[in-house]
Amino acid sequence: MNLAGLSSTRVNAIAYLAPQAQPFFSYFPRYDEDANTALINCMEIFIFFIVHWYTSLFFQSLFHHRYAAHNHFTMSRNWERVFFVGCYITQGSSYISAYAYGIMHRLHHAHTDTEEDPHSPDNSPNMFTMWKQTRDNYFDIYSGRVTVEERYKKDLPQWHAFDRIAHTWPSRLLWLGVYITFYSFFATQWWMWLFLPLQFFMGSMQGAAINWWAHRFGYTNFPMDNTSKNILPVDPVFWGESFHNNHHRHPGRVNNAHHWWEVDMGFLALRGLHALGVVQLRESRAGVGRTGRLHH
Ligand SMILES: [Zn+2]
Ligand SMILES: [Zn+2]
Repeated sequence: MNLAGLSSTRVNAIAYLAPQAQPFFSYFPRYDEDANTALINCMEIFIFFIVHWYTSLFFQSLFHHRYAAHNHFTMSRNWERVFFVGCYITQGSSYISAYAYGIMHRLHHAHTDTEEDPHSPDNSPNMFTMWKQTRDNYFDIYSGRVTVEERYKKDLPQWHAFDRIAHTWPSRLLWLGVYITFYSFFATQWWMWLFLPLQFFMGSMQGAAINWWAHRFGYTNFPMDNTSKNILPVDPVFWGESFHNNHHRHPGRVNNAHHWWEVDMGFLALRGLHALGVVQLRESRAGVGRTGRLHH
C-alpha cells in the first residue's frame, strides 16, 4: 500500500498502530494484504460508519424530533427543503418521513409507557420486538392505516413529491448499493462486512437505541410517572438526545441539558444555525440566553 497521498498525521498513526494491530489482523482469515493495508481499510470503514452515525442522527434529532415533532424552531420553506434533502443523503436507506415520525413521537409523549405508546419497553419483551412494533406503528401512520386525531397533525413538515421518491424500496436498495460499493473497495476482512447491516438500518437503529435505552437504563434528574432516563451524564454520541428524562420533563425546551455537565450538542448546533439565520429558535420557549439555559 502506497502511503503517499495520506496526511503525515495519518501516516504516523498507521506506522504506530500497524505493528500493534498485526496480531489482531492475523487472527482473522486474511486475504493478500499486509497489516498497513488492513488497518487503512479498517479505518476507512470506521470513518464511514462514524460520519454516517453523526450526520444521520444530527438530522433525526434536529429535523424529525425538535423541528417536526416539537416545533422548537421555525425556518423558511427553502431551508426546510434543504433539511429534507439532508435527511435523505445522510439517512439514505433508512430515510423516514418527518410527518409520520412527528405524529408517532407526539403520541409517545401523550401516552408514555401506556398501552397506547407506539414504542415503550414496557410493551415489548426486548429491544428487537420494540423495534418491530415501532416500525409497524410508523408504517400504519405513514400509510394512513390508522386514524390519528387532528391535534397530533398540526404544524408538521410535508413534502409528498419528495417522499414519493425517497420513501420507496427502490431508493432504499439504491442506497444499499452505494454502501456495498464502498465496502467492496475497503472491506478486505470478512468481519468488516458485519457493519453493513448497521449502516442499512442506521436511522431506525438509532431511534430504537434511544427509545429503548432511554426508558430502561440511566439516571433521572426529575421524578416522573414514566420510565424516562438520561442515558449518559456526558453525551458525545447522541446529539443531546440521551437526556431523555430531562426532555420528558420539559418537552417544550430546545435545550435538553439540565446540569452544567450535560452538554446538548444538538442545541449548540441549533444556536449556531440560529446565529447564521438558517433557523429561528422560538425565544419564548427556548430562552436563548447566554448560558443556553431556559428563562422560566
Ligand atoms: Zn420517551
Ligand atoms: Zn420528544
